[in-house]
Parts: sequence; C-alpha cells; structure tokens
Amino acid sequence: MSIALHPAPPPLSLPPWRKAYAEAVTDPAELARLLGLPRDLVDAAAARSFGLRLPRPFLGRIERGNLRDPLLLQVLPALAESETRQGFAFDPTAEQARSPVPGLIRKYHGRALWIMTGACAVHCRYCFRRHFPYADHLAGIEGRVDVLTHLAADPTIEEIILSGGDPLSLPDEQLAPLAAQLAAIPHLRRLRVHTRLPVVVPERVDAALLSWLAGTRLAPVVVLHANHPNELDGAVGAAVDRLRAARVPVLNQAVLLAGVNDSVEALAALSTRLFELGVLPYYLHQLDRVVGASHFEVADDRAGELWRGLAARLPGYLVPRLVRDDGVSPYKVALSTTQGRREPPKRTDESPRRRGR
Ligand SMILES: *Cc1c(COP(=O)(O)O)cnc(C)c1O
Ligand code: SF4
Repeated sequence: MSIALHPAPPPLSLPPWRKAYAEAVTDPAELARLLGLPRDLVDAAAARSFGLRLPRPFLGRIERGNLRDPLLLQVLPALAESETRQGFAFDPTAEQARSPVPGLIRKYHGRALWIMTGACAVHCRYCFRRHFPYADHLAGIEGRVDVLTHLAADPTIEEIILSGGDPLSLPDEQLAPLAAQLAAIPHLRRLRVHTRLPVVVPERVDAALLSWLAGTRLAPVVVLHANHPNELDGAVGAAVDRLRAARVPVLNQAVLLAGVNDSVEALAALSTRLFELGVLPYYLHQLDRVVGASHFEVADDRAGELWRGLAARLPGYLVPRLVRDDGVSPYKVALSTTQGRREPPKRTDESPRRRGR
C-alpha cells in the first residue's frame, strides 16, 4: 500500500458561522419570495453595481410584506442609487491618499486602520467603501508583511484597527497568527475590530474568535455596527454576552439614515436596546457622501435636531457622538450640537437662579 494512494484527508469541518455566511441571500427573486414582496423589488442596475447580499439571520428580523422595513431599506438595491447629486464622490473620506502601504490607512494620531478584506457578510447600500478599490489594497500574504513592517517601524502607533470590508469575514486560522504578530510589536497596546458580523451572523462570535481576540497582551475592543433596534435580537445579545464574558468591551457605531433611523424614537430605542445588550453607543455618523447613497442623507440641521432630541431624552452615556469624517481633520468631527437650532432654549422655571451645579 503506497502513501500516494491514500485519499486526501477530509477538510476539517467548517465552523457553523461559515455556513451561515455562505448561505446569504443574493438572489432578488428569493428575497422577494421570502419576504412576500413584489418580484421586481430589486433594481437590477443597482444590484449589478453592488450585489444584493444579506445573511438569513438578518433577513429573519425583517417584517414580511413591509416595503418600508428599516432593515430591508439598508440592504435593498434601489433605483434611487442611480441619482447623481452634487458633492457625492467615489472616495468621500479621501482614504486613498492616506495609505502609506496598501491596506493601511493612517488618518489619526496613534491609530492605524487596516483594510484586511473587501468581503462583507452583508451589503449595506449606504456603505462609504462600496467603491473602494479593494483589489489595489489587498496584497495577499506579502502585503500583510508590509503592513506589519510599517506598524513595527512607527512607535507612535498604539492601536491597530482591523477593518474592511468586514475583518471577521476572514477565518480564525488567518486571524489568530496575525493577532500574535501584532502583539509582538511592543508599542501596540490596543487591538480594535470594526465589524458588523456579530449583528448579521451572531454565530461568528465563537470560541476560536474569542481565543485570539482576548488571548494576547493587547487590550481588545469591538465596535459593532447596528443602525436600528430591530437588528438586535436575542442571538445578537448572546454574541455580545460571549464577548463580554471574555472581557472585551463592546461599542456600537451607527449611520444616520433617512427612512431607517431618522427619528428621535428610533435612535432612542437603538441606544436603549444596545445598553440592554451590554453595548455602549459610540458614534452616530453623518453619512459619508458616497455616490449611490444620496437618498439616505439627512440634512445637517435635521441631524442636529435629532441629536438634541436624543440628548434631551436619554442619559449622557446613551447619547452617541454625532460626527462626520470631513476627510481633512485629525479626528471625526463633531457636528455642532446647536446645528439648525433657531433660538437658544428658554428657561421655563421662575425660581431664583441656583449657584453652582
Ligand atoms: C474612523 C477611523 C479611525 C478611528 O477613529 P476613532 O475616532 O478612534 O474611532 C481610524 N482610522 C481611520 C482611517 C478612520 O476612518
Ligand atoms: S458591513 Fe460595513 S463595510 Fe460591509 S457593506 Fe456594510 S457598512 Fe460597508
């Protein structure tokens, strides 16, 4: 019996999240059928430019028959994407000019953002990287060496942010050794992951993920991306519980989106629900003005008004910072909280002015 005749070993069984990831709905007809919606639901041209893609756990949170469902609107290729509007660009955050080595973006002091993959579990129509030339930035394994070399050479970098696409689209067999290589760079202190996967495929938060994320000397932090409370069901809560049990702080960033979450009620419910799950609201982003997403834009005055409505209703720790990426400042710029306010608030009490606080 010769060794060469042995069959190849069977592939190791895939973790359950890979199956859920792979089985996302990409066929418009199937989407229409599953949601009881018209067959011509999806705009074909929009779907050609950026494909339909939504994982089934996320689909299960969409209300059947509701064309205005706030989750559906985030993922539905729509005719409005062909609108052209002044000021909307292909690279609205000027990322490509700030890339010292392919894949790495250096815009802010002490932090470097690594675009590790173009792949995402879900395709969000408003995504500011929907036109990102991933092919130029994903230089494979050699490219990773260049990124690590750059990080190691600059002692001002304290935090590495794994981003994408969705960095958790990559298998843990790739991420685990990478986390170890990052931990070997002495000046790095924090390992941050920007991901939507625990929201759209909660099984992604499994033992293999937790072991590299929480298993190095680097302080981990996960920043989720959810825009509406309906995205946050019990399975997402269980995924957050697993992260927190591994002592990983969990924050959320949302994008302010017309038709999805542009009401004080929706935003307050989002913050409240996040906190119930153990997540703190971090940023509420004004939309990056990317071509194809103009119909999601909320005017700055209205955004300021919504933020004030939220601040007037919730404790300060549940009020995310309303920011935009202006492409030039060394931080995400806070929109003025008085943006769009016509008059200063009036004192309503007649009691004598109190001293101090
Ligand atoms: C948003 C962003 C960061 C992180 O900014 P924080 O304010 O620390 O959350 C870092 N790098 C780039 C390129 C970014 O776009
Ligand atoms: S998950 Fe994030 S990177 Fe991916 S399409 Fe959505 S917004 Fe864009």
